[in-house]
Amino acid sequence: LTEDIYCIGCGAKIQTLDKSAPGYIPNSALQKQLTQNAETIYCQRCFRLRHYNEIVPVSVANDEFIKLLNELGTKDALIINVIDIFDFDGSVIPGLHRFVGQNPVIIVGNKVDVLPKEVSRPKIRHWLEVQSHAQGLRPIKTVLVSSKTGENVEGLLKVIDRYREDKDVYVVGTTNVGKSTLINQVIRQNMTIKDLITTSRFPGTTLDKIEIPFEDGRYLIDTPGIIHEHQMAHYLNDKDLNLIAPQKEIKPKTFQLNARQTLFLAGIARFDYIQGARQGITVYADNQLYLHRTKLENADVFYTRQIGQLLTPPRTEDLKNFPKLVRQEFSIQEPSDIVYAGLGWITVKHPGLVAAYVPEGVNVAVRPAII
Ligand code: GDP
Repeated sequence: LTEDIYCIGCGAKIQTLDKSAPGYIPNSALQKQLTQNAETIYCQRCFRLRHYNEIVPVSVANDEFIKLLNELGTKDALIINVIDIFDFDGSVIPGLHRFVGQNPVIIVGNKVDVLPKEVSRPKIRHWLEVQSHAQGLRPIKTVLVSSKTGENVEGLLKVIDRYREDKDVYVVGTTNVGKSTLINQVIRQNMTIKDLITTSRFPGTTLDKIEIPFEDGRYLIDTPGIIHEHQMAHYLNDKDLNLIAPQKEIKPKTFQLNARQTLFLAGIARFDYIQGARQGITVYADNQLYLHRTKLENADVFYTRQIGQLLTPPRTEDLKNFPKLVRQEFSIQEPSDIVYAGLGWITVKHPGLVAAYVPEGVNVAVRPAII
C-alpha cells in the first residue's frame, strides 16, 4: 500500500498481509474496491459483518488484549470464556481470574461433536472445572457445546439468560477455540441482520466490539481473541491443521503394546511404553493422523530419519521451525489419560511406566481416565 487507508467500519488500518489481524483484506478485493470507490474501504471482517451477518475471527496483540481485559473488570458483566476441550492449556487466558474481578464466569467447553459417543460428558465437564480451578477461575457453570453442529447452543443461551440478570455478556477466548463459530451460531439461531452493530472501541485497542442485542437492551459482546503461543497449531503448516483439530467424531484406535514399544503420532508427538505387562492402549486423536508403532530402542534413530517423511506432519519445509520433542515420564497407577494439548489423548488402563513427547512449549498432562 502506498498510503495508509483505514476501514470505515472499524477504523483499523487496512492491510493485506495478516489474515488474523485487524484491518485485513485480500489484495485482490482491495484492488477491486479501490477502483470502485476508494473512499469506502471495508476490511474483510466489517464487510462480512455488513453483508453476511457473519463474524470473522480476529486477534490482537498481547498489550491490547490486556487493556481489553482490564476494561472487563470495571464492568458489571457476565463473562463467557470459550475453551477448546481438546486444548485446555492452549485455551487458557493467563490471569483471567484477576481481570474478571467479581464478575461471574461461565466456561464453555467447545467442540463436543468430536468426542466419541462413549466418552462421558459429565466427566469431561468435571475435568474442565478441575482445570479451571487450577487456573484460579471459579466458574459458576460449565457448559459443553458444539459451535459447529449447534449442539447445546440453545442450552447455553438458556444458561446465559438465567445468570446474566441485567448485565451485558462478554465472550472471550484465545484464537482457534471456536469463539467466532459459536457467535455465528448464536446469530444464526437468534438474530436478524439489522440487529448486528459495531460500537465504540475498547479503549486503546484497534478494534470495535461487535454487539448482539438481547431483548432487554443488553448485549452479547464479541471480543477479539489473543494468540496463545503454546498451541500445537502454531508449529504446523496451515494445510495440516485439520490433522490436529479433529473435525469429525473421533474413532479411538487401540494398540496392544509390549513394554519397550513406541508409538509415534506422525512426527508431532510420541508415546513410549517403558515398563509394564502387555496391554491395550487407546489413542483418541484425529482419524487421519498417522500412527506408527516401533521398538523403543530404534525410536530415536527412526524419528531422525523419518520426520518430515513417513512421520508427517511436520512437512519437510516446516522442519526448520519445528521445535524438538521434549520428553516427560509418567508412572501410571490407575486408569489414566495422557493428554497431549491440542491433539487428543492416550488412555492407559493398567499400571506401567510411560513417557510422552510433545514439541517444546506444548503441554502434556495426566488425568484419571474419562472412559
Ligand atoms: P476463533 O479463533 O476462536 O474465533 O475460532 P474459529 O471460530 O475460527 O474456529 C477455529 C477452528 O475450529 C475452525 O477450523 C473451526 O471450523 C473449528 N471449530 C470451531 N468450533 C468447532 C466445533 O464445535 N467443532 C469442531 N469440530 N470444530 C470447530
